[in-house]
Amino acid sequence: MEFSIQATDTDPSSRRKEIELRSKYRHYRRFPTKALQLLRGILVPAILLGGGCALNQVEPAPGWEEGKNHKWWREPIPDYPDPVQTVQGRSLSMRPYGEGTKFVLILGGIHGSEPGGVDLVQDLEDWIREKGAPKGLTLLFVNPANPDGLAKGKRENAHGIDLNRNFPASNFRPHPKSGRQPLSEPESRFLAGIIKQFHPVFILTVHQPRRSVNWDGPAEGLARLLASYNHYRLEASVGYPTPGSLGSWAGIDLQIPIITLELPKKPESPRGDFAENMEGILQVLRRLAYENP
Ligand SMILES: [Zn+2]
Repeated sequence: MEFSIQATDTDPSSRRKEIELRSKYRHYRRFPTKALQLLRGILVPAILLGGGCALNQVEPAPGWEEGKNHKWWREPIPDYPDPVQTVQGRSLSMRPYGEGTKFVLILGGIHGSEPGGVDLVQDLEDWIREKGAPKGLTLLFVNPANPDGLAKGKRENAHGIDLNRNFPASNFRPHPKSGRQPLSEPESRFLAGIIKQFHPVFILTVHQPRRSVNWDGPAEGLARLLASYNHYRLEASVGYPTPGSLGSWAGIDLQIPIITLELPKKPESPRGDFAENMEGILQVLRRLAYENP
């Protein structure tokens, strides 16, 4: 399947028009840059003369661009390659199903100590492989998202980093378990590259053991729909801060609806998680398929 975005405008007359427009407005575009350069030429020496401390306080941390009430990661998100190698050399890849123009990203096992999520997403993928994706959607499966952690039964990857704290969210905090900087890990870079390339309309990430449906970004309606089927607790917040999480970055910063589905510690019966969640997840996918883009 070909996912790349094709250049569609090859008409020479429209290309000429574009060049004319660019040439017409180039002075307007230059003006703010020149004005800023002039302002910087005056301000920077003034601050330097006023004392080095002031400069230290306003200097943003490397990699971050700081606004008045917000900061954002200014390093480019890496391109999506497939497959990539995990820290320990395992292959990490994405499997697409369907022909739709709307993409949905489905993740299991970003925490290697939560195998229930891996099993559920595997069951879901097997089901979709057999029955097909809902019309209008292409489902992108990454499971397990942290194969090195899963092999050892550990939450973190092989560097000891919690991948779900390593995204370039505005609330990212450098920490030995979160990484010194966002996207320091091949596994989180891989997921960020997928999000950059495919612009999913929805993300489902499956965890354990809270038996709850948690959401970030504009996903409350979808979360309520899922919870009405699986009867798990609906949670606007998990009750503790999750800086640098996928929910913080994709959901809150990028406004992509995301549900963090927390399965129970143990399934009620073999494949019980699938039985409890299958219908609700399908209803969510069907709603996405019928909604306008
Ligand atoms: Zn988890």
